[in-house]
Amino acid sequence: MTSRQSTPLGASAIRQANLREHNLGLVLRLIIDAPVPLSRADIATATGLTRATVSSLADRLIMAALVAELPPVMSQRAGRPAVPLVPARGTLAAVGMEINVDYLGVRVVDLSGDVLGQQVESADFRSSDPIAVIGRLSELYSEVTGGLGTEIRMAGSALAIPGLVDRSTGPVRLAPNLGWRDVDVVGEFHAHPATSQVLIRLDNEATLAARAEADALRPIGLFSFLYVSGEVGIGGALVVDGGVFGGRHGWSGEIGHMVVDPAGPLCRCGSTGCLEQFAGKDALMRSAGMDLDLPVEDLLHAARSGDASALASLTLAAQALGTALANAVNLVDVENVVLGGIYAPMAPFLIPVIDEALRSRVLSAPWSGLCVYPAEVRDYAALTGAASAVLSDVIDDPSGWLDS
Ligand SMILES: [Zn+2]
Repeated sequence: MTSRQSTPLGASAIRQANLREHNLGLVLRLIIDAPVPLSRADIATATGLTRATVSSLADRLIMAALVAELPPVMSQRAGRPAVPLVPARGTLAAVGMEINVDYLGVRVVDLSGDVLGQQVESADFRSSDPIAVIGRLSELYSEVTGGLGTEIRMAGSALAIPGLVDRSTGPVRLAPNLGWRDVDVVGEFHAHPATSQVLIRLDNEATLAARAEADALRPIGLFSFLYVSGEVGIGGALVVDGGVFGGRHGWSGEIGHMVVDPAGPLCRCGSTGCLEQFAGKDALMRSAGMDLDLPVEDLLHAARSGDASALASLTLAAQALGTALANAVNLVDVENVVLGGIYAPMAPFLIPVIDEALRSRVLSAPWSGLCVYPAEVRDYAALTGAASAVLSDVIDDPSGWLDS
């Protein structure tokens, strides 16, 4: 035996192993993001890997129940029929959770994007007690995950918070509309016996909602946009080349606290004239003369029926949004603006006014092809984005899920 053979795990072997793990993630990511299912030959073409390597990687992913095969289809090319590969359903999942100003939610999503379980509960969490709210979230988590089949493996969970999160382990530094400051959300969640062992990470609500939108837009080739998430508060996120730009601490995107009128009303953050005070849900309902607890559908219904107060409220909000977004686009140079949260169903009323503001205030507008869209992901996008954040780590490095 030579000395070379006596060190089977030398640097070169380790590099080989790393490369294999990297390629495993590459192949899984391609299968998950593909707008139409890919065959092994398609993946070989897309990656430049050999057909044999792709087959071996795909087989490992199938064995691990991360990928499934569909019935073979005859391909255009000569030879054997192609077997389309798709993300496996109902095998590996993650939990997305959200605490927002007027609801709590828990959603379980698998690798294929299917929702396996969900509960969303409406309540008023303005100036709420964090311990009580996190306690209820822990109960909801147990109720939703307790109803799932035992064959489903859980990759972990992520919680969306409408405020500034200091690292994924917390604390939540500030959630102005909840009235929370320096709350150890992870510690409180783990203080409940039923969720004491649950892997949980924190992130900003708009960041996670933008992530869900980025997942939805990637297959159609749209990778960069400014996302605005309307709720009681207004969040934002800048997505560049498919990734959310977090800023130095992950605190970027606080578009709701951009000042649109320094002489405007006092904001929950302590400043005055923030965008939220003109275009947040409470501001919209108040200026339409409607009860703050009513759903936005009531405001939209009134606007569609031609109610002057409802229409004026939407126009005022759209003008404030237009001002803030024009400032933001001048700063960051993106050409797509996506309206999420409550703004997606309001888009027909908002877009013409926002569009006009962008065209008249953004310096590069004549050349940049600026466009404002309603979000693709409508239904509690941050819940989906939170689950996606966890699953994304599995997709990038599936090696830890191969042997179970
Ligand atoms: Zn503010």
